[in-house]
Amino acid sequence: MNRWLIAALLPLLVPGALFGATATYRITYRGGDKLHVDAQLPAGDGKLLIRQGGGIAHLPNEWATFVRDLRVTGGNGAAVSTTALGKEGWTLGANGAIAASYDVDLAYAVGKWPPGNEQSGRLLANALYTVTKPLFVYTSNVTDAKVAFEVPADWKVAAPWLASASRQFTAASLDALTDNSLVVGRFGATEVRIGAFDVTVATPDQDAPPARLVAALQQMGSEATAMFPGTPAGRYVMTFFRADDEDGESFESSAALTSPYPFDDASMVVTGNTVVHELMHHWIGGMLAPPPEQHDSIAWFTEGFTEYYANLMVARSGAVPRDLMHQKLANVAAGYLYFMNSSLFHGITLADAVQKKGAYRMGIYNGGWAIALSLDTMLRSESGGKRSLADVMRLLFDRYGRARTPISEAELRAAASEVAGRDLAPWFEKYIHTREDLPLAATLLQLGLELRGQPYAADVYLINVAKPTPAQSALRAQFFGTKGSM
Ligand SMILES: [Zn+2]
Repeated sequence: MNRWLIAALLPLLVPGALFGATATYRITYRGGDKLHVDAQLPAGDGKLLIRQGGGIAHLPNEWATFVRDLRVTGGNGAAVSTTALGKEGWTLGANGAIAASYDVDLAYAVGKWPPGNEQSGRLLANALYTVTKPLFVYTSNVTDAKVAFEVPADWKVAAPWLASASRQFTAASLDALTDNSLVVGRFGATEVRIGAFDVTVATPDQDAPPARLVAALQQMGSEATAMFPGTPAGRYVMTFFRADDEDGESFESSAALTSPYPFDDASMVVTGNTVVHELMHHWIGGMLAPPPEQHDSIAWFTEGFTEYYANLMVARSGAVPRDLMHQKLANVAAGYLYFMNSSLFHGITLADAVQKKGAYRMGIYNGGWAIALSLDTMLRSESGGKRSLADVMRLLFDRYGRARTPISEAELRAAASEVAGRDLAPWFEKYIHTREDLPLAATLLQLGLELRGQPYAADVYLINVAKPTPAQSALRAQFFGTKGSM
């Protein structure tokens, strides 16, 4: 039998078992505490499934709790019976492709959700933020989906999928469909484009995001485009809303942040920086990362370098008032110096710190930040400003990130050595694998910042040198730009 014939016959021999299929959903919502879904689903294994887990351990039936008035019909239009299977979903009374129609009770988006509303939803005056887990029931063969929204004409839909038409989207995988978050309604939002990668920052409980966020995102957009050229097309949605606690949750191609403080210009030093930090993770820790099973193995890189670039981008954009940015850098430096000087962390290197991400947080975040700052300064000063850490990132992205080839510290050392034009392995060995601390004061002085204080007390200050030399001014401008943040 020729292979074309085999290909043609296979679906008949094993219906749906090998060939996944596209599900189609239409979501109808005009406000209020429920929305309606009509779904066309391919034949599966006799079950109707719903995503499990994700901050819902307190409800035995998990997300299935919120699916109401479920009606299923078969290909011939006849009703198909459903039997509840708890959190897994339902058993279907017939096989074959089906149409499912149901309401989703948005009770999970009203009031306080025990693990935090960023993990469920929030129904606001003019908009709904929701995770996608309760919205989409599916059969075992669903591999991708088309999603259309029927909403009032003046509403926006911020969804983390590529749009095929107005309010119509294509989710490329089941995870992209069911492990994400979105916002519908009337709400403030700002957009940034990084190559073909589009990001929406939505603020559903504010009329508009802070004006300075736009500047920070534009800065990030141009720098990320230069550092990570050829980033594949995609969409990302970042949502911010007020809640009692500072919290955050990441999904397949979206994230949500909450804070008790309003997201205004002063909050750019906290929330604005966090927004940029989370977006940077698309590349550092996302495309450029160790194998998934060793996720935290180079956390000083994935977290520390991410924070370093978030700081640089918000500073360069001029989005954070100068005095607040100054305080932030002093705080981050203080954390690293305290980690290295306090007996609390005796014997724990930056590489060891990943063993207890909570307790040794400063070794990871502040430590990785100090490594990034030191490396960047070293590369810039040794090359007379011709090379920088951005060249290392570009090289790593070129070689590994774009193809999503996992990396380890060895690849980082090699790329940094290549850009430096000398072997930096001993440098990495010393500052990441022993308790020797980086000469941070000398590094900061190269930028015209004098570090004074008591590191063992986490009490340090960055003081502008009275008369910076041309070299100090030049290096400082390379770091923080000329828009006046530092
Ligand atoms: Zn992070």
